[in-house]
Amino acid sequence: MAARRLGMFMVVCAPSGAGKSTLIKRLCAEFPAITFSVSATTRAPRPGERPGLDYHFLPREEFLLWRESGKLAEWAEVHGNFYGTPLTPVREALAAGRDVLFDLDIQGAAQLRQSMGQGAYVFILPPSRAELYRRLSGRGTDSPEVVARRLAAAQAELADAPLFDYWVENADLATAYDDLRAVYLAERRRPRCHPEFLQELLSQWDAAV
Ligand code: ADP
Ligand code: 5GP
Repeated sequence: MAARRLGMFMVVCAPSGAGKSTLIKRLCAEFPAITFSVSATTRAPRPGERPGLDYHFLPREEFLLWRESGKLAEWAEVHGNFYGTPLTPVREALAAGRDVLFDLDIQGAAQLRQSMGQGAYVFILPPSRAELYRRLSGRGTDSPEVVARRLAAAQAELADAPLFDYWVENADLATAYDDLRAVYLAERRRPRCHPEFLQELLSQWDAAV
């Protein structure tokens, strides 16, 4: 399809520990044409996180300033910190025909559906409660209290899974990645991403008479 294509966007949500970051990193590595939407957050950077690439780490006052001045497409308070999506980079990427990937919590996904409408909304599910606990504690980044809080929060988050367009169960990582990749590739084939293609193709019939 040589005609201009429009960018699409995909929102990925999951209970903490389900494997969302692992899957998103793989997808962005395989498809460099994807723009990852870098969120703003008031939480402190974790070891290895790169400012401006993983998050824009902001003091609380600055985050509130961004929020009040309409810079954010959506925002939410998650686990005691503020998170939000800067609007301009998303607009620019989509206008340039690039695909945008959002890593959001469920409140953020619901707000984006209101403000930006059609996109692919994907929910990553853990295979079991026991495995989610294993992954949360095995990651080694959180205290037992935080792990317990996140495991408890997962119950309410899973109850919202029916609001999403696609479910990807992350039992075996390779299978889950294939499923997420399939969703992304299928969504790129939506007619709305190729507004000029059919017209151009049909015009060849007009030109031939
Ligand atoms: P999230 O971003 O959803 O909080 P992570 O991507 O950080 O989750 O994954 C949580 C932990 O589980 C990490 O240590 C990761 O390596 C591991 N993990 C992810 N997917 C799988 C899988 N399919 N099988 C086993 N471990 C996994
Ligand atoms: P973490 O602190 O573990 O990186 O992220 C905590 C939660 O905040 C995750 O569920 C993540 O998807 C979500 N999150 C990250 N960025 C944003 C954002 O811009 N908006 C919203 N609503 N949630 C976000």
